[in-house]
This record gives sequence, C-alpha cells and structure tokens, in this order.
Amino acid sequence: MVKNIAVIEGDGIGIEIIAEGVRVLKKIEEKFGHTFNLNYVEMGGCAIDKYGVALPDETLAACKAADAVLLGAVGGPKWDDPTAKVRPEQGLLGLRAGLECFANIRPAKVYKALAAASPLKDSIISDGFDIVVVRELTGGIYFGERGRDGDSAYDTEKYSVYEIERIARVAFNLAMGRKKIVHSVDKANVLESSRLWRETVAKVAKEYPEVELVNMLVDNAAMQLVRNPAQFDVMLTSNMFGDILSDEASQITGSIGMLASASTGAGTRGLYEPIHGSAPDIAGQNKANPIATILSVAMMLDISFGLKEEAATIDNAVNSVLEDNYRTIDIASEGSVVLGTQEMGKLIAERI
Ligand code: NAD
Repeated sequence: MVKNIAVIEGDGIGIEIIAEGVRVLKKIEEKFGHTFNLNYVEMGGCAIDKYGVALPDETLAACKAADAVLLGAVGGPKWDDPTAKVRPEQGLLGLRAGLECFANIRPAKVYKALAAASPLKDSIISDGFDIVVVRELTGGIYFGERGRDGDSAYDTEKYSVYEIERIARVAFNLAMGRKKIVHSVDKANVLESSRLWRETVAKVAKEYPEVELVNMLVDNAAMQLVRNPAQFDVMLTSNMFGDILSDEASQITGSIGMLASASTGAGTRGLYEPIHGSAPDIAGQNKANPIATILSVAMMLDISFGLKEEAATIDNAVNSVLEDNYRTIDIASEGSVVLGTQEMGKLIAERI
C-alpha cells in the first residue's frame, strides 16, 4: 500500500514524540511492505515565528492533499499571551475546520500494567476500562451564535439532524467492531437540542440492529464514569459534553502521555494526534512519553488506511514493553526501568 502522510511536529515535545511515531511507522513500512511518503509541514508557534501565522496556506494545502495527517503538539510560553491576535491553537482549529473533521475519536484505556496509575480504586477499575468517546467536533455551542446584550451574554447550542446523523454513524460503526453498545449522552430532560439528538440517534440505531443503544443524561454519565466505568464501551456525545467527558475519561487512565486521538470527516482522511500538549516543562530533555503519538500512528493505520493487523502489531508492541516494566518517567513506578523518549521509541519499534 502507498499512502501520503502530512507530518506536523509543532512545538515543544512535538518534535521529539513525532520522531518516535515516525520511527515506528518506518518499522511497519519495512515489516509489511508498505510505502508511506512523509511530507513535513509547519504549524503552531514555529509557523508564527517564521510566517506570522499559525497555519500557513501551504500547510493546510499539504494536509488536504494527504491521505492522513500526523500531528505532535503546538504552543508554548513564548506564544501564550491570551490577548495576542495570532496564537498557536488557531492552527489546530483551522486545520480541523479545513479538513472538515466533524468526529473526534478518543480511546481511553487502562493498561493492566499501569492500573496503579489510575486515580480510581482497584475494586472499581478491576473490571477493566477500555472506552472510546466519540465527540461531535464542528457544531453545537462552540460554533453557535454568541454575543453580549447589555450586562448579559449568551451562547447558542444548535444541532441539525444531518450533523447528528453523521456523528451517530461514526459511533455505531465503531461499536460494530467492539462490544456493540453505544451510550448516547445528552441533556434531553432540559434541552430541546438534546431532544432532537436523542430522536435522531434512535433513528440511526435502527440501521444497526445488533448494537444496543443506551441513552444517558450527561450529569449521570459524569457520575457513572467514575462509579462503574466498565459499563461503557462507545460513548457518543455533542461537542461540549464530549469535551468535558473525554477529559474525565482520560484522567481515569492516569497517564496523559498514553492517550491518542483521531479526528475524521466524511472520507477516510483523518487527523491523528496525542491528546496532550507541547509540555514545555520537559521539552528538549528526552523525557516525554512517545506512546500517545505511537498509538496515534496505530489509529491512523487502522481508521484511515484499514490496516488492522499493522495497528494491532503496534498495540501489542506497546503492551509488551509495558508488561516488561519499561516506563518513561511520567508513568514510572517502583521497580520499573525508566527510559528516555528515544529509548522507549526504539524499544517499541524493536518489538514490532
Ligand atoms: P500539556 O499537556 O502540554 O502538559 C501538562 C502536563 O503533562 C505537563 O506537566 C507535561 O510535562 C505533562 N505531559 C504532557 N505530555 C506528556 C508526555 N507525552 N510525556 C510526559 N509528560 C507529558 O498541557 P499544558 O501544560 O496545559 O500546555 C502546554 C502547552 O501546550 C500550552 O501552550 C498549550 O496551549 C498547549 N496545548 C497544545 C495542545 C495541542 O497541540 N493539541 C493541547 C493542549 C495544550
């Protein structure tokens, strides 16, 4: 298989973690006989310094022309002035919008070897925790009409049937390859937009008779996530609720350096990135955990290229390294062997 991948290192640890993601990708290329053409482009603070904008036109054009985009992280103290007109995260929002990525897919999983890192008690996490949050990314209150009116302010939550249907299908399709259960999270007891959400999701569910649909109010879902997380598999939700619940789910795993994400649109092209930021406090020190980026590569192979075996090979390699007690400093515990960013990347590539 031949695929074109746009690669954005970004700022801070972005450069170090992308190097390890690419190392693993090259190993997969070699082992399975694929060709991945990499096109490195700039975005974020580094692009602001060089071109005066966070997302240069050439970067967006290169990403649109690619089969998938692999992104490290952007931002840092140098560009953190909230009143600045040009900011690194404009690159992220512009890229997601430019690629028309309406679905954000965020797996959160507690690896057996890392169970102690979870802030939840063993008795709660012992049944396992392996969920995917599917968050609508381009609609809802973050994009609705907003404004000030005298001494009051307002934001509008608005969803169309079309927007709900397409995100629901992403969740149900994912569920078909997993435990065949979707929890759709809304606030239908109060919000009209949530009532439309619930009606529409129920209609889409009819296309997937094998998948069980459970409706859950968002306040209950936030509580159930920490009370009995094993009941969930695929959680489908709106932009704002998904923003909050995906962060809650990620914290249950206890290790931000382990979590990957995908943002996809109508076709197979997707944007793949770790959920963490550019970690300026550890940048350039060979301390960053590259696993979130390596798992983002696995998601890219699986979701955009349909290379399931290759993706599983990466997952297994990560698992085996963790089982053998190798850790980067952020997930280290007593008795573990602490590795740097590069050493961890090399070890995972070797296991492939
Ligand atoms: P952060 O995720 O960068 O860091 C939070 C903490 O987690 C830090 O202590 C950091 O050292 C640690 N951490 C993060 N990733 C790690 C990894 N792979 N390995 C080991 N430790 C890791 O969040 P922050 O400190 O709030 O933000 C720093 C900068 O990143 C800001 O400029 C922010 O705007 C930006 N940011 C970018 C993205 C993105 O590019 N998608 C996301 C969030 C934050």
